Amino acid sequence: MQDSQSGTPLQPNRVREGISSVKRLTSPRALQPDHDVGAVATANHPRHVPQPRTETPNTTESLLLRRALGRARPEDYVDWAVDQLGRDVDSPSLRILAGLNVRFDREDIDRYFRSSCDELGLRDLPEATPPLDVAAMIRRAYDQSRIRAEEAIDMLADVHETWEYQEPLLQPWHSMRQELSWRTGYSYPPAALESVERAVATEWSLLDRASRLTLPAGWMKLSRCEHCEHVGPLRPLNPSLLRRLLAALTQPASSHGARCEDCGSQQLTQLTHPDARAAYLDTVERRAGQRAGAL
Ligand SMILES: [Zn+2]
Repeated sequence: MQDSQSGTPLQPNRVREGISSVKRLTSPRALQPDHDVGAVATANHPRHVPQPRTETPNTTESLLLRRALGRARPEDYVDWAVDQLGRDVDSPSLRILAGLNVRFDREDIDRYFRSSCDELGLRDLPEATPPLDVAAMIRRAYDQSRIRAEEAIDMLADVHETWEYQEPLLQPWHSMRQELSWRTGYSYPPAALESVERAVATEWSLLDRASRLTLPAGWMKLSRCEHCEHVGPLRPLNPSLLRRLLAALTQPASSHGARCEDCGSQQLTQLTHPDARAAYLDTVERRAGQRAGAL
């Protein structure tokens, strides 16, 4: 099925398939931070969403986000339609969608959602959306209390795992999900997850800071020495095959059996640990500040 205005496939199966299939991300198209992807107006489809946007929480963006991540439930579509009608957004299919039964009309829900999109000039989230732009959308949905902390972690981990470009800055969210699922204590420090909301707030802040800096490739896999603050790759003392394999598989937050290249201390913490990462970012920010001051 094609959107007759733009020629963009509407991808009817995306609700079921989500983003599990390999995505084609050949032409990254940056979305403006506050651009409402759900309100792309086309020549014959003027934008119906009332202005100004600051007074209307971005429900369309949240729904398209859930849809792109394969997380949209039937009730999300119906609730969205009801909400849109309440905001004076109107179209024939939107009215039908708002009245559908979430238990008995599942196929109709997808069909009428897609025809509502046609009528309102809305388009799915482009597959080429860069992972950090998707992360910004997830953050907006979280800040608007549309998703819970655990779901934000899940969504960001999904973006990290399934987008063709694995954005290294999203790695901690994947680690958090692993720890919440398996509780091994390896992927992410359990103490930092005692309050999931606080962990999410910490990671948003670290993501903000890291994305403003120029950091070396693979920096998240480095470890920080608690003794001399040296940051470098993890080098096990006696790297048996099993140990190297375990290190590769689990990427432990605490690195036993390795020494600092500079001072020989064994108090090393991998930068997936939020405290070690914060300390490392402090150092990088300080140096960047000194360089800027020297210019
Ligand atoms: Zn050291």
